Amino acid sequence: MSAREFDIYDVVGIGFGPSNLSLAVALDEFRVNGMGNVFSNIFFERRSSFAWHPSMLLPSATMQISFLKDLVTFRNPTSSFSFVAYLHESGRLPRFVNNQDFFPTREEFHQYLEWAQARVAHRVAYGSEARSLRLPAGVGPERADRLCLQVADAASGTSRMVEARNVVISTGLVPTMPTGVERGERVWHSSEFLERFRRTSPARIRRVAVVGAGQSAAEITRFLYDELPHAEVSAIIPSYGYCVADDTPFANEVFDPEAIDDYYYATERTREALWRYHSNTNYSVVDDSVIRDLYRRSYEDDLRDVGRLRFLRLTRVAGVRSVGAQTRVSLRAGIDGDLRDLDVDVLVCATGYAAMEPTGLLGDLDQYCLRDEAGRYRIERDYRIVTAPEMQCGIYLQGGTEHTHGLSSSLLSNIAVRSGEIIDSIVARSAERTAPCAVLAEA
Ligand SMILES: Cc1cc2nc3c(=O)[nH]c(=O)nc-3n(C[C@H](O)[C@H](O)[C@H](O)COP(=O)(O)OP(=O)(O)OC[C@H]3O[C@@H](n4cnc5c(N)ncnc54)[C@H](O)[C@@H]3O)c2cc1C
Repeated sequence: MSAREFDIYDVVGIGFGPSNLSLAVALDEFRVNGMGNVFSNIFFERRSSFAWHPSMLLPSATMQISFLKDLVTFRNPTSSFSFVAYLHESGRLPRFVNNQDFFPTREEFHQYLEWAQARVAHRVAYGSEARSLRLPAGVGPERADRLCLQVADAASGTSRMVEARNVVISTGLVPTMPTGVERGERVWHSSEFLERFRRTSPARIRRVAVVGAGQSAAEITRFLYDELPHAEVSAIIPSYGYCVADDTPFANEVFDPEAIDDYYYATERTREALWRYHSNTNYSVVDDSVIRDLYRRSYEDDLRDVGRLRFLRLTRVAGVRSVGAQTRVSLRAGIDGDLRDLDVDVLVCATGYAAMEPTGLLGDLDQYCLRDEAGRYRIERDYRIVTAPEMQCGIYLQGGTEHTHGLSSSLLSNIAVRSGEIIDSIVARSAERTAPCAVLAEA
């Protein structure tokens, strides 16, 4: 789809991953349910088509959350966009239930997301990268009831401006590499793993190392070991061994919609404590089943005296350089922190992500966005950035709110409810703006 120049939308979504897909669905249901205004909306996505972490769609990798934490169910259990509705339409509902598993494969969840996006795709401009936001010409921040967004179109190489009364930024996590290590032909980040792997001849990879101790690192290590039976696979892990992800019931409550209030209204000290206690639900941890899979493979290796799968524990990457066709990884290893080298054909850095960072997109507007003492954006409970002076238009974030809204900010757990809350906020603010006119009209 395409947007005409200088269209004004009530809601413009930047990025079209699961978070803004959930918002698009919620807007659709808001309209279908005939609840007042119809909000004009459009979403810009820089990819040429929908994809959810496509380079990590490894065979048999499963979801880290229940299928019931889909795009809609926690907001609207009767929605026709639910995972169950998708299964029903695909004819797999009885077999899915027979499987007795709350955690579908990522591949199946991806198919669900594609199915959902196809129903709202007429409101998405793919191949469109949002570049920067600014105030309309001649409008000061105190009177700003809309913002201008510059969008670059990949197909035509041109850019255009759209105007928005509300923008919802959801551009996703930012991949991080070990300090001083650059990506390259033979040094990959996990976020590009499958794409790179498919472009490389498997026969060329005889020695490969994976850095990291989280879910992606463990999944990639398992995948490489299975896919490359001739190769030596080294897992470089900073801890003594992989730590298990806590998904037991009490710990899981930290992702419940109610937990957002507990976090948001807590003192800074309590928030820090919540992170400390519960980061093992998601960060640098691995599903029990993947840990056991890896251990079993390594045990069988031992049994056959193969030694193909190696775990370099208490080890960190100190540097990387090219030596001929090899990549030489300098490691600070073991209890003594001795330096040693490891030569590999490919190094995969599954070293995680930083939180979503909207500063670049905000451009000149950033000066009106208030920050706390630690330099982080101040965010209202309704996910709107606090601005001074208070603008009439809204800048909402889906992601990048870990410091205010807690652990689920970058996850799928709460996207259904969060989307609903953002729409409620847009509706309420829009009603506030029009209320005096309505009263006058009645009088
Ligand atoms: C491998 C992997 C597996 C995961 N599995 C789970 C899981 O099982 N459960 C869970 O809760 N969480 C999981 N996560 C966390 C993940 O953050 C969420 O699953 C989800 O991707 C969040 O959705 P999002 O829409 O906020 O961000 P994203 O999915 O990252 O989508 C952001 C989109 O914005 C687009 N974009 C970026 N910049 C621009 C721009 N300037 N203009 C236009 N478009 C732009 C990107 O192309 C992208 O499509 C996983 C993360 C990874 C990396």
